[in-house]
Amino acid sequence: MDPIKTEIVVVGAGPGGYAAAFYAADLGKKVILIERDPRLGGVCLNRGCIPSKALLHAAHTVSSARESEHRGISFGKPTIDVSKLRAWKESILNRLSGGIAQLAKMRGVQVLQGRGYFEDSRSLRVETAEGQQFVHYDKAIVAVGSKSTMPKAFDLGNPRVMTSREALEVEDIPESLLVIGGGYIGMELGTVYASLGSKVVLVEALDTILAGADPDLARPVIAYAKKAFKEVRLKTKVGKMSTSGKQIKVEFDFDSQKKEELYDRVLVAVGRSPNAEDLGLENTKVSFDEKGFIHVDEKQQTTDPAIFAIGDIAGGILLAHKASKEARIAVEVIVGEDSAFSDITIPAVVFTDPELAWCGLTELEAKAKGIEVQVAKFPWAASGRALSFDRPDGLTKLIIDPDTERILGVGIVGTGAGELIAESVLAVEMGATAKDLALTVHPHPTLSETLMEAAEAFYGHATHTLVRKKPEQG
Ligand code: NAD
Repeated sequence: MDPIKTEIVVVGAGPGGYAAAFYAADLGKKVILIERDPRLGGVCLNRGCIPSKALLHAAHTVSSARESEHRGISFGKPTIDVSKLRAWKESILNRLSGGIAQLAKMRGVQVLQGRGYFEDSRSLRVETAEGQQFVHYDKAIVAVGSKSTMPKAFDLGNPRVMTSREALEVEDIPESLLVIGGGYIGMELGTVYASLGSKVVLVEALDTILAGADPDLARPVIAYAKKAFKEVRLKTKVGKMSTSGKQIKVEFDFDSQKKEELYDRVLVAVGRSPNAEDLGLENTKVSFDEKGFIHVDEKQQTTDPAIFAIGDIAGGILLAHKASKEARIAVEVIVGEDSAFSDITIPAVVFTDPELAWCGLTELEAKAKGIEVQVAKFPWAASGRALSFDRPDGLTKLIIDPDTERILGVGIVGTGAGELIAESVLAVEMGATAKDLALTVHPHPTLSETLMEAAEAFYGHATHTLVRKKPEQG
């Protein structure tokens, strides 16, 4: 095959890579997109964000049916057809990845399916089904993402020990499931399996779950998990695992005691590692940090002038929307614009029940960095909308600069927090003050009012909650 020449090559077609390829094509560049998987969309679409949200939705129908009994509505015990559930989930993924392939075609982005390997700073070799294809480029954008970390001690080669990838396949609904790690993945997938009927035990090495979130926001999520899961064990480490018949024998270090238990399946959710190996990047001037993430500056430029990196492989927060934003920055820098990833607000959402979302500065961060802030809260127990669907266990919280009254951060826990946070991201990005939020009329009865009322609470006059007046400055 003759070598191909292109202006931009993008390696990896996840939400970073395909966003970069599409944007570059929209700006008139000749683009080649390389993806090793047969389906475009990366981990997020195929093995992460989208399938987990589909399964969480299915799980929610089960739990909400169960929770409606006290309203006088009973459905009886649900029957779950796992293969139908899987097929439904797959249909969503097929539709979305097919859509991305179609969008690539319509934009004239050439997709090469195969593994990309850097020969040097200006050329790549792609191992395709038709043979080796060489690609010469002006600029490359590396967007190869990350994979679940599997510590050696847990890697038995037994399919009953799963990462999120296998857990999302829902091979079956195990009677007992051990979840190792109380982060995003452990909490989200623990919620799915618990709702589908597994007895879930979640263990976390730290003294709290969702350690990055403010404790008052994490509290309702922990309370719900303690009810829905068989057990949540903090300050617990898993020592050894071994196969025992059709089960997994697990050894725990808990309260300075050793304990052994048997589980039908184990989900390991202890973080993610960069997909940095076997890329040939050692043939370029690209450099890595000690964890294997690629060094980039605020223009997404690596230490090789021809190569940019975006998304999980570039480190920082491992979130799809951060990758898509970095994609735009890298492309703009390549076409000569003065773009940079600085002072950009990246929201975080954990899709648990209830959902937990935040953006900008958290109270924890403010404390750690010694930043003086004022906090205004509105508890959802005072929201008519929250009560109307039986979920008063939410909280909306503003982190405010006491001098300028600017909103520096927002945290929301409660049903639909992931959607609600968008208004807050705009407020933080635009430098809105608490007054701006308080003076903006929000529709009634909605959960969005909790943002307005939290801002009103800052001034001591929220309608639906009684708060002391804002302390005098000085
Ligand atoms: P995480 O870093 O969020 O949480 C891992 C947890 O495991 C930590 O709390 C850690 O203390 C604990 N842990 C580590 N080793 C342990 C051990 N041996 N025993 C017990 N606990 C242990 O990692 P994750 O949940 O695997 O998620 C990975 C990344 O994927 C996250 O950083 C997140 O950015 C991303 N993600 C995001 C979403 C979302 O946006 N909703 C969903 C899923 C994943």
